[in-house]
Amino acid sequence: MTDPTPGQSPPRLGPSTIAIHSGESRQKLAHSITDPIICASTYTFANTQAVIDYIEQKQQREEYGRYGNPGEDVIEKKLAAIEGGEDAVLYASGMAAIVGLLMTKLSTGDEIIFFDECYHRSREFCVKHLTRYGVVTRQVKACDYEAMAAAITPQTKMLVSESPTNPHLSCVDLEKFVAIAREHQVETLIDATLATPYNLRPIEYGVDYVLHSATKYLGGHNDLLAGVIVGSAEKLDAVRNLRGIMGAINSPHNVYLLQRGLKTFELRMQRHNQNGQALAEFLENHPRVEKVYYPGLKSHSYHAEAVKYMRGFGGLVTFLVKDADWRQTANVVDAVQIPRIAPSLGGVESLIEQPLVMSYYEQKPEDRQRFGIPDNMIRLACGLENTEDLIADLQQALER
Ligand SMILES: *Cc1c(COP(=O)(O)O)cnc(C)c1O
Repeated sequence: MTDPTPGQSPPRLGPSTIAIHSGESRQKLAHSITDPIICASTYTFANTQAVIDYIEQKQQREEYGRYGNPGEDVIEKKLAAIEGGEDAVLYASGMAAIVGLLMTKLSTGDEIIFFDECYHRSREFCVKHLTRYGVVTRQVKACDYEAMAAAITPQTKMLVSESPTNPHLSCVDLEKFVAIAREHQVETLIDATLATPYNLRPIEYGVDYVLHSATKYLGGHNDLLAGVIVGSAEKLDAVRNLRGIMGAINSPHNVYLLQRGLKTFELRMQRHNQNGQALAEFLENHPRVEKVYYPGLKSHSYHAEAVKYMRGFGGLVTFLVKDADWRQTANVVDAVQIPRIAPSLGGVESLIEQPLVMSYYEQKPEDRQRFGIPDNMIRLACGLENTEDLIADLQQALER
């Protein structure tokens, strides 16, 4: 199937049609409707001329498993189509994708600017590791565009943010973000893991690289790790090249799981969005809840940006338990019967965690305060269970 191009005939296809069919051959091995899982670490050549034809790029094919495999190629085309981007590079995890992109694009003396609400391992990679290679990371307050513009120097190469951010769900004004970058001729990266291409379309606003931990909503079943970067083929060429050296490739079995998960992508997102909105509204009206962070709530600081840029607001809901210390907050988490206590999000099973304990336990209290992680914060990642069951469960946990 040829990938849809906006504004051309045939008309642009819907997200489910793209997620199900894009990137796949119509006629497959053994007339199978599903793609085969090709378990090969290496690929054979019929003769020396075939090797030469491949090296001279006269023939597109696989060579060695670290550089790619047939299933991975299908997924990359599918994810590029879903995102509305030209090309995609798949990685073994979201972190491998972040590391792979930044290692490709940055050299000694370069600087990047981050909005400070972000996945803690992304921050750790920049602050602890990129610094060892002489790359400077400047962190500015999330969604403070003036501070971001002011932090740009002639060495700045890239502006980086999540949208929505984790766990505060702040939403970036993509037009402002891209305008600052264009004015200073630097590139932009949005980690849109929490939004997914169903809810947010950063490329349409001119963002250069969109990154996803496909471990979350794209895979969607809490059963695989993967990451992807979508952008122009030209910009991703060097990224793909370094991935082949890093070896952070996804295995044939794993890409099959991801392909299978993507078939139901739109349907799953609709339920995640529905559950997230319903749980956020329920929690906001509960007397034991002090505050709810959810982009779909009018009370959310970034509701205007969310409404402007997003189709739906996702399954992640963060809230504070009123007048609760860390133990009383943990008691709420422990009283919940349906969501499982675990890190991660975006799968069919709802997950719940107290950020203090799960991701920030080893941080100093003053750092937790700086990152905005109070002891009474709970992060609920709504899965696909029935909305009323999740509400009833949170209700009994809060009222215990
Ligand atoms: C989970 C996550 C990552 C890291 O992805 P992995 O697949 O776990 O390596 C990066 N960014 C965000 C926003 C995430 O939620």
